[in-house]
Amino acid sequence: MENKPTQSNYIKNIIVEDLKTGKHREIVTRFPPEPNGYLHIGHAKSIVLNFDLADEFNGRTNLRFDDTNPLKEETEYVESIKEDVKWLGYEWDSLFFGSDFFEEMYNKAVLLIKKGKAYVCDLSAEEIRTTRGTLKEPGKESPYRNRPVEENLDLFERMRRGEFKDGEKVLRAKIDMASPNLNMRDPVIYRIAHAAHHNTGDKWCIYPMYDYAHPLEDAFEGVTHSICTLEFEDHRPLYDWVIEECETECEPHQYEFARLDMTNTVMSKRKLKLLVDEKIVDGWDDPRLPTISGLRRRGYTPEAIRNFVREIGVAKSNSIVDARMLDHFVREDLKMKAPRTMAVLRPLKVVITNYPEGQAEWLDAENNPENPEMGLRKIPFSREIYVEQDDFMEDPPKKYFRLFPGNEVRLKHAYFIKCNEVIKDRDGNITELHCTYDPETKSGTDFTGRKVKGTIHWVDAGNAVPAEFRLYEPLILDGEKEESAGFLDNINPNSLEILQGFVEPAMREAKPQDKFQFFRHGYFSVDPQKTTGEKPVFNRIVSLKSSFKI
Ligand code: ATP
Ligand code: MG
Repeated sequence: MENKPTQSNYIKNIIVEDLKTGKHREIVTRFPPEPNGYLHIGHAKSIVLNFDLADEFNGRTNLRFDDTNPLKEETEYVESIKEDVKWLGYEWDSLFFGSDFFEEMYNKAVLLIKKGKAYVCDLSAEEIRTTRGTLKEPGKESPYRNRPVEENLDLFERMRRGEFKDGEKVLRAKIDMASPNLNMRDPVIYRIAHAAHHNTGDKWCIYPMYDYAHPLEDAFEGVTHSICTLEFEDHRPLYDWVIEECETECEPHQYEFARLDMTNTVMSKRKLKLLVDEKIVDGWDDPRLPTISGLRRRGYTPEAIRNFVREIGVAKSNSIVDARMLDHFVREDLKMKAPRTMAVLRPLKVVITNYPEGQAEWLDAENNPENPEMGLRKIPFSREIYVEQDDFMEDPPKKYFRLFPGNEVRLKHAYFIKCNEVIKDRDGNITELHCTYDPETKSGTDFTGRKVKGTIHWVDAGNAVPAEFRLYEPLILDGEKEESAGFLDNINPNSLEILQGFVEPAMREAKPQDKFQFFRHGYFSVDPQKTTGEKPVFNRIVSLKSSFKI
């Protein structure tokens, strides 16, 4: 993988300083997904940031599953996350599960109780919420706040043993009910949940809360720079409190950056899961989703995704990125790599009436004019071919240079053909065109007799491979932000169009995930799920042109 130095950013500046002053000798970062869904392109931003920063300074990056909520987490998600991180091109130094540290976290909670910094509280979740106060008013202290240490130790142990029901008791940090920061008003750090956990099974019935578990996981793993998104800025004082009061050996620090948000895109696992569960899309890897597995299936490359998220950079304020910017990077990546071939998506048969029946010839075609190293291929040409329906108009407007009665066009890599006759069925639908070709005009010869304005693509009918093409539009219509309650009302009914057409015979060899540029149509990738031995299915990754300028 290319190891471009990351752009300068404020986190990188801090790292440079920390290494210079000797605060840290080695940088350790982590990517900490909760295994409650598949990764999306927002996660890619965090992955690239964490791994690139460590790589650049010869540090380490861990993959850690932040799995402290037994109700939503599943092994399927764990496996998909590992696969996605590897596919993006990264190797983690160590793999951890937050749940591997449950015992240590419990011991730290006991330490807090002994120090008088945590207490068992019998208030209900509702009562805790209503006594928390507001931004203007301080909270009310819990009547259980001054329980003696011995009683807290006993109750906490009994919570662990399963003597209480869900919600009957919690463990709270004893900080400051009048703090201007609501997160510091005696936050809950343990709750009871009689639920099996994907990693620890039935071993535990109390689970640590995110704000308590996360800093401890960082500290136990030796993380130096714990990078998260901006909404955790207000949680940083609590992060620091946990690190200090739990007296951990390693003292990680939290840094925040703006999360990636894109136009026409829902980017939260909860919403993505809803689209999957409601069967609005065809699974987590539906090519219309911004999940890593969806982007992969659609044909986006890891290089394009990495370059895209690097280009966006690390900001301290939230903004929305134009989704077309990602398309720009995939075009850049595939321009030199993807062979160019011809595919007819909406076929119309053309009979070349002056081409001898039973004859065929093999013409030379360049695989990629921008990259001559990709060489030539042979394509068959004979009496019957397919062209695109919209490359013909019976009654064309001015400046239409493609096929119409009496007009001559160039067939890419082949000859000039002239349309002489339009064949229709009883209902008046066009079924066939009858054309003649001029043998003098063969592509690659120095024919200068006359010029034509239009060049169209085609596929030889006798050798064509039937293929399915899937064209996409954004799944979410413009103008509505993800935050809106009703994003399900904003689903684009035309997000998928399926067409049946033909590709060149060499495409019989195409394998899942192979990528091509179909002349005039854009970049396509072979769908790994839908493709069968008889019929390849192609997902359009992007069309050729974009209005987006970078
Ligand atoms: P979601 O709301 O989609 O579930 P999350 O933040 O809850 O996202 P986690 O699995 O907890 O998902 O995230 C793992 C890491 O990825 C975290 O460090 C988080 O900050 C980061 N991350 C998640 N979404 C984005 C995003 N849109 N842009 C940048 N980083 C993100
Ligand atoms: Mg989450």
